Amino acid sequence: MARTPKSFIREILKVTENPEIISFAGGLPNPALIDVEGIAKAAAKVLAEDGRSALQYSTTEGYLPLRQFIAERYKKRLGFSVSPDEILITNGSQQCLDLIGKVLIDAGDHVAIERPGYLGAIQAFSLYEPCFHPVILREDGPDPAMLADVAGRYPLKLFYGVPNSQNPSGITYSDERRREIAGILEGSGTLFIEDDAYGELNFSGRSSPSVREFLPDQTIITGSFSKILAPGLRMGWVVAPPEVMEQIVVAKQASDLHSNYLSQRIAFEYLCHGDIDARIRTISAAYRNQCDLMIRMFEEMLPESVTYTRPSGGMFVWLTLPDGISSTDVFERALRQQVAVLPGTPFYVDGGGQNTLRVNFSNATPDKIRTGVERLSAVIRELQDA
Ligand code: PMP
Repeated sequence: MARTPKSFIREILKVTENPEIISFAGGLPNPALIDVEGIAKAAAKVLAEDGRSALQYSTTEGYLPLRQFIAERYKKRLGFSVSPDEILITNGSQQCLDLIGKVLIDAGDHVAIERPGYLGAIQAFSLYEPCFHPVILREDGPDPAMLADVAGRYPLKLFYGVPNSQNPSGITYSDERRREIAGILEGSGTLFIEDDAYGELNFSGRSSPSVREFLPDQTIITGSFSKILAPGLRMGWVVAPPEVMEQIVVAKQASDLHSNYLSQRIAFEYLCHGDIDARIRTISAAYRNQCDLMIRMFEEMLPESVTYTRPSGGMFVWLTLPDGISSTDVFERALRQQVAVLPGTPFYVDGGGQNTLRVNFSNATPDKIRTGVERLSAVIRELQDA
């Protein structure tokens, strides 16, 4: 436990619960886009028609029809075949990261991760005491030369990445970079952990190919219903090759026997009878508008010395401040102006990132985006001119 970082985000979220504060700090989906009525209907139907079974214990792998649905969706969306036996339902995709750590990482094992990397993965893996190797994330994905160098020098157990609309940076790997990464890892003992929490939330509606397509035997995918249905259902899944899956099943049994079965049944009922594609289009269009507005405001208000990513999906923009301006100072001053942003340092396994900020656009109204960016820009200008 001593080596596992406390989630800075969860700590900050406590501060930003105050409704007066405009928060770009968290990573919450927009509550207005959660289909409460549709989920209520699905829940009522499951309980009325099959309540005794839906409230019973169930299998560790998860509800087979839901796993079949996920398999069919991969076929339809990304064009690759996966057997439902290769899919296990988890309590949120965060649990996949814990199970993967438990099964694959021994103390001292070498693990590569994007720089900046998803804090939840850093936290989950840290419990198993790996030696982390950061690989710099460029505009079109992880730096291939750096990955090749790390993979050449250490026997990497795994490389963890978020190819679609990464958290925290909002970066999406180019198709070429996906191929290149697969090429570097192919034939090595390294597994690629492809965290696809945001794959369905792309603004163009065009899905990028999964790295699994280029590296079928060495890729583990993690998926989530949090961003397209509701995070409170805690529904995610992992797709893993049979030999890893066998061990994940045992680890999952030891952790919690099986994922929330009622949630699985409700999610499946909803997915079968609601129009999930229409819902995903609605959410993506709304986030696109929110992201566009935020970027427009940045263009208008921020000093030119500040650079930022231009996401094609997901929920975050990543800001890099000029050297010498500390994101912690920005955080503190902005909070005094009732605006919360997230300093980027916890996303770095090797320190660094002191001049970076993660800004969330999915959970703010247009008015709050305008006012929040105005105040944030004023704070940054103040610090720059000081
Ligand atoms: N992976 C990434 C990249 C995320 O951003 C998140 C949510 N913050 C998760 C996994 C975990 O999401 P969930 O457990 O709700 O599926």
